[in-house]
Amino acid sequence: MDSYIKNTIDLIYDTYRTQPEFVQAVEEFLLSIEPVIRNHPEYEKNDLLMRLVTPERLFKFRVVWTDDEGKAHTNMGYRCQFNGAIGPYKGGLRFQKNVNESIIKFLAFEQTFKNSLTGLPIGGGKGGSDFDPAGKSEAEIMRFCQSFMSALYRYIGADVDVPAGDMGVSQREIGYLFGQYRRLKGNFENGVLTGKGLSYGGSLIRPEATGYGAVYYLDEVLKHENDTLEGKRIGVSGYGNVAWGIMKKAAELNAKVIYMSGPDGYIRDPEGIITEEKLNYILEMRMKDPMHCRPYADRFKCEFIEGKKFWGVEDVDIYMPAAVQNDVGFDTAKLIAKSGVKYYIEVANMPTTNDALTLLRSCDHMIVAPSKAVNAGGVGVSALEMSQNSERLSWTKEEVDSQLHRMMVNIHKESMKAAEEYGLGYDLVSGANIAGFKKVADAMMEQGLF
Ligand code: GLU
Repeated sequence: MDSYIKNTIDLIYDTYRTQPEFVQAVEEFLLSIEPVIRNHPEYEKNDLLMRLVTPERLFKFRVVWTDDEGKAHTNMGYRCQFNGAIGPYKGGLRFQKNVNESIIKFLAFEQTFKNSLTGLPIGGGKGGSDFDPAGKSEAEIMRFCQSFMSALYRYIGADVDVPAGDMGVSQREIGYLFGQYRRLKGNFENGVLTGKGLSYGGSLIRPEATGYGAVYYLDEVLKHENDTLEGKRIGVSGYGNVAWGIMKKAAELNAKVIYMSGPDGYIRDPEGIITEEKLNYILEMRMKDPMHCRPYADRFKCEFIEGKKFWGVEDVDIYMPAAVQNDVGFDTAKLIAKSGVKYYIEVANMPTTNDALTLLRSCDHMIVAPSKAVNAGGVGVSALEMSQNSERLSWTKEEVDSQLHRMMVNIHKESMKAAEEYGLGYDLVSGANIAGFKKVADAMMEQGLF
């Protein structure tokens, strides 16, 4: 291993011992870009790697809110402005019980290269809170969002940092956050958040963009293998917004999702989650209770396997982990490798542990695609929302969808080219890291030391 990379990884292990997710993301990334580093001795002189893995800034703030009984609660809020070399910081807000500094930093780090891959001028950021939205009333959610934005508003802006949604933050939360921003600033500035409602500057296709983009990317992978989506059976973990977009687009393109999972277990629907009725039912089910997918099995009379994950099943052609980070660990990866399934398309951010990813990538029969490329369509359409806001107009659904499609084709092509340039063959993981890295590195080198 290159000594500059090795020393940087050692330093990261040493410095961030208490931030395992962040260290994991950095290590995977640095190992991938090794061939580029070897060609650029000037990077070491300019301390590029330490600068690259150190956030430009990270805000931590107290968020106090009152519940419906009038009792006060205190949570932590975060916003990490990781890298702004190629554009305003951009990335979602995650409201989930397990959110901490390590998770926010790993997400913001990944976001930097994902955003670079979109080809659009957006830097990397991420934020959120350990607030747990489960079981909270509408009024409690509103008060929490208002309090969160009261702390955050001074650090963001349409040309500074543009937050959006992520887990636990959808259009409803963005509405409350935007309302509070407007109230505090006395200024409309609708480009300051993305994922907004259509009535005040949101973009068509944004809610579906991540899932649609993932299927467009998958389609490119299949084409590369002289294969097609026609009739393909897909196993998707999760049934959130992203998984839902995958189900819908897959059905449109004559493929079908036959497995989905939730915290309570998994569903096997061999006919496919393809009808409008099924897709609408999932939306309803999630609104009522995001923790259980079992009602789907009861409603459509299919199998529900309680408390288990479906990794390792053999009756799919494609696996798409679209739930949480580190969903697939080493033992699960062994089952996936054994199943003989050819395509492993990551969708959620860092769904695979590093040892599991190494194992899957080493299987000759498998093609592995990384989340930072596959899920980039979501933030890509957010950037299109920013463009529409600054032009003060809205594009049609077809226009946004075709730009999204083009973006995903391009991300696949650029990743493929980057890997080939370094003699790595069809290596989509290294290719995405290298392509994402090069643009950020060039911008940082040109902008001088800071
Ligand atoms: N949270 C999403 C992501 O990880 C969307 C971010 C955005 O739209 O800014 O890319």
